Amino acid sequence: MMRRIGLVFALAAGLTPASGEQPMKVLAFYSTHAEGDHVEFAQQAAKFYAERAAGRYQFETVTDWSELNARRLEGVQVVLWLNESPGNAAQRAAFERYMESGGGWIGFHGAAYNDGGTNWPWFVRFLGGAVFYGNNWPPLPGLLTVDGGSHPVTRNLPASFLSPDNEWYSWRPSPRANPDVKVLLTLAPSNFPLGLKDTIRSGDVPVVWTNTKYRMVYINMGHGDKILTDPRQNRMFDDALLWVGKPH
Ligand code: ZN
Repeated sequence: MMRRIGLVFALAAGLTPASGEQPMKVLAFYSTHAEGDHVEFAQQAAKFYAERAAGRYQFETVTDWSELNARRLEGVQVVLWLNESPGNAAQRAAFERYMESGGGWIGFHGAAYNDGGTNWPWFVRFLGGAVFYGNNWPPLPGLLTVDGGSHPVTRNLPASFLSPDNEWYSWRPSPRANPDVKVLLTLAPSNFPLGLKDTIRSGDVPVVWTNTKYRMVYINMGHGDKILTDPRQNRMFDDALLWVGKPH
């Protein structure tokens, strides 16, 4: 029965390929040597997506970033970066080719962290121009407001909801300044000042967005072991994967 439900869902989402073709392939990269809270999230997120894969997509995790190469990405519809981005030039180049050729990507939290030392201009453009600016500490819940209510990624969310504890990143420039970016979820200004040791005091803080030039969604959640505790938000993680994996 579960298989049938999965199949019906996949058909509804337009994900089932013609008979004889392979189902959607999802490859999730994460580092086990990152900040402990980021590793915990990545392990939980890998489990989350693996549990939902049955009948809908093939799911595989990779912790060796040297596997970010053209051969490994062949036939992959969605690449996930659960807690980090690659620092190696060959891995970066392979990812650029993959995305410029119509590949799909979802990045969580630390995956989009970039600063003056990152030296990857293509990646900043890919993110819509967002450069890390600040964060709150300790991790705290945030009231989030939906910007794109009818968008496939956010359509199952309420207009606003209180998220699980997270370390939120702010960005300068804000990706919203880029006309190619569609912001889907924003940290409500009523949260500010947010934080104790480190504080986000004001400003426009998008937390989920897509650069419409690519099949991509960035999701800022991803710090610690409590992220996957809200079913509404988890549904958005699920919806994001299905949307990114579907040709559009
Ligand atoms: Zn963090």
